[in-house]
Amino acid sequence: MAAMEMGCVWIRRMLRPIPLPSPPVAIPLYENPVFYNFLKRQPNKLLHRRLISTATAPSTPGPLVSFDGASFDLGCVGSGDKVGTSKQGSKVLLKGMRYTELENWVQSHGYRPGQALMLWKRLYGNDIWAHGCEELEGLNRDFKKMLNENAEFKALSLKNMLTASDGTKKILFTLEDGLVIETVVIPSDRGRNTVCVSSQVGCAMNCQFCYTGRMGLTRHLTAAEIVEQAVFARRLLTSEVGSITNVVFMGMGEPLHNVDNVIKAADIMVHEQGLHFSPRKVTVSTSGLVPQLKRFLHESNYALAVSLNATTDEVRNWIMPINRKYKLGLLLQTLREELRLKSNYKVLFEYVMLAGVNDSIEDARRLVDLVQGIPCKINLISFNAHSGSQFRPTSDEKMIEFRNLLAEAECIVFMRPSRGDDQMAACGQLGKPGAIQAPLLRVPEKFQKLGTLLFFHLTRVKNSAMLMYMINIARATFYIIKFLDVKQLLQIVYVNPEKKNHNF
Ligand code: SF4
Repeated sequence: MAAMEMGCVWIRRMLRPIPLPSPPVAIPLYENPVFYNFLKRQPNKLLHRRLISTATAPSTPGPLVSFDGASFDLGCVGSGDKVGTSKQGSKVLLKGMRYTELENWVQSHGYRPGQALMLWKRLYGNDIWAHGCEELEGLNRDFKKMLNENAEFKALSLKNMLTASDGTKKILFTLEDGLVIETVVIPSDRGRNTVCVSSQVGCAMNCQFCYTGRMGLTRHLTAAEIVEQAVFARRLLTSEVGSITNVVFMGMGEPLHNVDNVIKAADIMVHEQGLHFSPRKVTVSTSGLVPQLKRFLHESNYALAVSLNATTDEVRNWIMPINRKYKLGLLLQTLREELRLKSNYKVLFEYVMLAGVNDSIEDARRLVDLVQGIPCKINLISFNAHSGSQFRPTSDEKMIEFRNLLAEAECIVFMRPSRGDDQMAACGQLGKPGAIQAPLLRVPEKFQKLGTLLFFHLTRVKNSAMLMYMINIARATFYIIKFLDVKQLLQIVYVNPEKKNHNF
């Protein structure tokens, strides 16, 4: 009986083609509340200028969206598609479909579900990762003809691949509309090779220490564009680095701002007949979008990383403006409550260490208190400088001291070495801001003093005697205000702020 019913359902599906949603449409700039609020506060600076991030969008302009202040509404920006169609809208993007959707689509064209499974294995299976009909060995000729007419295999085109001195690979892809995104593959001696995928073109969150944040947001990536980054990584690099086992959504963009496509892409990546990543080895990171974070924890079982980076609202409001909407207390309380409902699940807190900003002993003590009652691990990350950045990395000694304090308080804590820094492939270094950039935010008063003092000294140092003189002044001042010690000052003196340019 059940089989008969299934048969009937199958026949009905064959007779009734499943309609596909229309192609994604970008919301016009003036209708996007995030950007509209941004413009209202900066009328003279921006209204008369071309409102695009030109460097990453050479051929197709899009809106620059960034979060800079007290009001924040997460407007949708393009590409919120459910299934995914190619630009022309006539062909369906195969990699934008979950397995059940692909099965339905195949049946809607008069073919058996078995054909869908064979296609799925060739799209995602080991050693095939098909990019076109010519790579679909063993599939029926009519079926291939139908695919040729109605389906698109590729959502990305390879633009360039750069290799850093530590073996990290940065892959640049061109999207169908001419925009460029970046994906990073991080090889590991321990066989834990990781692909770091982007989820948006640019990012609206405007974290002040992040190069991608300078770009503003141009648009969300489709599920197909996200999945294909992992497929491409395996296709290009498996033979060189070995099996790629881990996926982290820590490339360009705030993944939970594009939560539908991110969850969908992760679902496709973990399918056991396809890419077959373990769900616990798929990590989605967020800057702290509380409603989306709740949804993510309810709807999926993938690992979660939260970029914390500060222990007070004052500092977090400055370096991560999303905190003005979702305060530290709310974020942590939400995690505390939500993780009670999950068993054997730990959130990973990411903490980028910025010299003199969030790396004091008091910060370490506050961090211990803040994470009380939350099953978690803490990752201390060295800040990766980039052109124009106003921050400096914490010294290794200070990071170790900070780490030890957390470990003594029985936190699970790691120090993550920077990878791919010399090719701008490290954490917070992806993308390429255009001429118009997201705004730098007002520096809190106590850090303004620090910045002014450093600027005053560093621009006047001419020789070593003068340097020692300045250091002595600085030492006396810093001992009073307890921000920096001499070692840190020396480190700041010798770090070249224009570390590198970002040319391809
Ligand atoms: S750190 Fe992440 S969320 Fe923040 S601006 Fe950069 S990409 Fe966006």
